[in-house]
Amino acid sequence: MNYIVFDLEWNQSPYGQSGEHPRMPFEIIEIGAVKMNDSFEIVDEYTSLIKPKLYKKLHRSIRAMLNYSEEELKSGRSFKEACADFLEWCGDDYAFCTWGASDLYYLQNNMDFYYMEKLAFPLKFYNVQQIYADIYDEEGRISKLEKACMDLEIKEDKPFHAAINDARYTAKVLAKMKPDNLEERYTFDIYRHPKTKEDEIVARHAGVLEKITAEYPSKQAAMEDKDLLVIRCAKCGRKCFRKVKWYQNSSSASIAVGRCVYHGYMISRIKFKSAGDSEDSIFVVKKTEKTGKKGFEEVKERQQMLREKRKQKRHKEK
Ligand SMILES: [Zn+2]
Repeated sequence: MNYIVFDLEWNQSPYGQSGEHPRMPFEIIEIGAVKMNDSFEIVDEYTSLIKPKLYKKLHRSIRAMLNYSEEELKSGRSFKEACADFLEWCGDDYAFCTWGASDLYYLQNNMDFYYMEKLAFPLKFYNVQQIYADIYDEEGRISKLEKACMDLEIKEDKPFHAAINDARYTAKVLAKMKPDNLEERYTFDIYRHPKTKEDEIVARHAGVLEKITAEYPSKQAAMEDKDLLVIRCAKCGRKCFRKVKWYQNSSSASIAVGRCVYHGYMISRIKFKSAGDSEDSIFVVKKTEKTGKKGFEEVKERQQMLREKRKQKRHKEK
């Protein structure tokens, strides 16, 4: 199997939201990719400039970042042609790798704009930025590609923010890390989500038990689904005893802790993702993994702190 490490550059309406097309707020203007074999050797490269159809003038922040001009983009190919060509170049047996999750998102969004055939579902890919964070940052915080290259002492001889250069740098980061359980460290792309219960995704990989649900009409409806709220052990799948009840940790996330008789504390996180179909409809990405006593106590303390805050707020309102 080959790794297709790709990077995109995109433009947006230079006139802000008023000039934006709702079906394609970000228009891809460059595709750059490298192909690596399973020994992480670069065996081929792909690069193409794309002539924009919607936003012909560059947004000022994009212009400041990129190394080319509107004039050069005029010599580019149509997205449809370049993208079809790129996908053919990928071959039959490959996995996408990108720095972050947005490139794969906007690739599919632009493909949809032109009514191209959809990519496979569910779609697994390697988020090199996340893998780097998981391995090198104690708290799993993500960092910029520039920083990763610097920390790994990768020679920076070409400017960043040109798709082909960023693809090369991302490939080099991956090659340098060479995690031996890479096949476990995939991410599910969530540009598309399960539509029905039968399509729901459940997978156990890299120590995490993951579930991606079908749509719920609202966050509240999701939090009333008893099935969703059950915490299962990330190691053996058994039902855990509830140690910290589900509570909303931020506007888009809830958290709880359970305990497996055999494997100890399990921390479970629910993230609400907009399903886009109506204003409130969402789907859920739920991840459960092992934690220690310290992890359990941190979650419990935070819950108590939030409770206390709410109490004080209510008190003030009286
Ligand atoms: Zn267990």
